[in-house]
Amino acid sequence: MPAKPSSADASTVARLPLAEAPARALADQLAEIFDPSEVVVSCEEAAGHWTVSIHFHAPPNETAVRAVVALAAGADAANALAFERIAARDWIKAGLDALTPVQAGRFVVHGAHDRARVPVNRIGIEIEAALAFGTGHHGTTRGCLLALDRIIKARKLDTARILDLGTGSGVLAIAAARALHRCVLASDIDPRAVRAARGNARLNRAGALIAVMQTSGLGAHRFRIRAPFDLAFANILLAPLKRFASPLARLLAPDARVVLSGLLPAHANAALSAYRAQGLALERRIELDGWVTLVLKRSSQHPHARADIARRHRAP
Ligand code: SAM
Repeated sequence: MPAKPSSADASTVARLPLAEAPARALADQLAEIFDPSEVVVSCEEAAGHWTVSIHFHAPPNETAVRAVVALAAGADAANALAFERIAARDWIKAGLDALTPVQAGRFVVHGAHDRARVPVNRIGIEIEAALAFGTGHHGTTRGCLLALDRIIKARKLDTARILDLGTGSGVLAIAAARALHRCVLASDIDPRAVRAARGNARLNRAGALIAVMQTSGLGAHRFRIRAPFDLAFANILLAPLKRFASPLARLLAPDARVVLSGLLPAHANAALSAYRAQGLALERRIELDGWVTLVLKRSSQHPHARADIARRHRAP
């Protein structure tokens, strides 16, 4: 098990100047490749110049890092990588501090240092430095936030019960709770994500609306107690998304929306077929930085939905 990073440790940063699109694409790929408990990848802009930064807690094997970058972005990029030892400070915070605020529809995801810069007509979501996925910079998170923004614009979710499966930093749960003023059940398999999501929910004054539990998948009794959900997010990966299609469909209200992400374009059709088989239809497809987010709607004509409606109309 890797040593827990300490704020007293010096760290190493490798920097690479690139144009915006390749910088974002490379940062996304590296964030997938490196263990987030050891390495923080960020992509930042200053005065129109973009830089990918890779922060290492332990001194990295520079040849190996260049080889990874060469595979992802070519030999020229690998050669241009500049390594620098930086003074002791919180290395995770160093990565997050470098992140610029991200806007997605009505939402702006930002760090503490940008709190004052959130426009008054936006919903600011402050994400604290932590070992959990979801700073808003990744194409999957931004895709889910944009999907939420459009769902809210298109229709009122009066009786919204919301589920955030694989909550990470809690960013989607916080966005939904803040925008809709409704309760959210959030879950994650990773205890560090659960701690981060709880902390971020409190930080964003949404602690009373968001319950976060540590569990894998959808088997826990609490999901059934809190169902049926009108809106569900699952930003995971293709394999678990396919596995969750049937149990998730059973927890949905008629006409519910499901936002799926974590999909490469080549995976989107496989995810779609799994959810179509459960009576969900594609409503919107968002592609950002090489990642696909699908918005699906449950048809009230599907046998599962009809059975739910019949159950609700039966005398107690
Ligand atoms: N929802 C956040 C966002 O959109 O930025 C985080 C998404 S991150 C890509 C996926 C999260 O799902 C991780 O925090 C991971 O720990 C969690 N996860 C992976 N498999 C899971 C499972 N079987 N059950 C619950 N959570 C899971």
